[in-house]
Amino acid sequence: MVNSMLTPASTPHVALFGECMLELQGQAFGTLHQGYGGDTFNTAVYLARCSAAAGRAVHYATALGDDALSSGLLARWAEEGLQLDLVRRLPGRMPGLYMIDTDERGERHFSYWRDSAAARSYFDAGCEARPTPLEAAAETLELLYVSGISLAILPAAGRERLFALMQGLRTRGAQVVFDNNFRPRLWPDIAQARQAYTRAYALASTALVTLDDEQALWAQPDASRQLAQCLGLPPAEVVVKRGAAPTWVRLAGETAFQVPTEAVAQVVDTTAAGDSFAGAYLAARLQGASAADAARAGNRLAARVVQHRGAIIPMAAMAGLLP
Ligand code: ADP
Repeated sequence: MVNSMLTPASTPHVALFGECMLELQGQAFGTLHQGYGGDTFNTAVYLARCSAAAGRAVHYATALGDDALSSGLLARWAEEGLQLDLVRRLPGRMPGLYMIDTDERGERHFSYWRDSAAARSYFDAGCEARPTPLEAAAETLELLYVSGISLAILPAAGRERLFALMQGLRTRGAQVVFDNNFRPRLWPDIAQARQAYTRAYALASTALVTLDDEQALWAQPDASRQLAQCLGLPPAEVVVKRGAAPTWVRLAGETAFQVPTEAVAQVVDTTAAGDSFAGAYLAARLQGASAADAARAGNRLAARVVQHRGAIIPMAAMAGLLP
């Protein structure tokens, strides 16, 4: 466990659980640039940037190995301003890895080596009888964020622990945010995925939903039907993202409304569009903004992110967006 920075006990805490992998980007058998990324990690970075001025501590919970690459990741995450006391380091394990190689036509191809990544064992390896750092910190959290990928990477027993944690937070009145991010190849079969999503939605207080992903999950070819289903999901707060099309927001007991996205002349790379939306949206909500204003903040940041290459854009590229 690593403590990147000490935070006063009175500071409100938020935690995000998931996996951040090593990234290799470039031409296969050619020059590859090394980086790192992952949906919940990207959201954590944007949430930390957007809520730094408010003094909110953003903890990233995951597992890494005790190898040098894992140490290198931790050092970089600390530089991003993340709190790392909820990170487990599992002896002999390694972080997951993915490669983005661009072919001669400019098309990007993703390859993953993540089956034995340490993050999958966050809730199990050598820890069955005692709480993980995330479980031990549950009492101090005002918000926990997990995604469909966080669910998918866990074995069944680990997923149960995560559901129990979500339930405990809700019982205490804390917020649980579920971001759908559905990746079919991470699930052994669609039935398991649907069952896990149904449980996650039932446990979440806020759902951040990418419409395309939800259509893929439920094999629903009709976008408007899927939208209606999304707006009827159990969480009190539901936000439906649809790329450049206006974002839908539905609060409990209220009529759903749309929030326009920002006009973007040239989309360069949509990586982390939804993740950055989530970071800015949640930072705004935690600071007391209305859901409509938070969705505008999410759309503003995501519009900036899609105009840059890579998941995490430089701080300088966020000029004018931070409080
Ligand atoms: P995800 O990245 O999760 O697949 P979306 O594709 O729906 O999600 O995009 C997330 C957000 O990114 C949108 O809500 C919007 O704010 C922004 N976005 C994505 N594509 C565009 C675009 N072409 N123009 C403007 N904003 C966009």
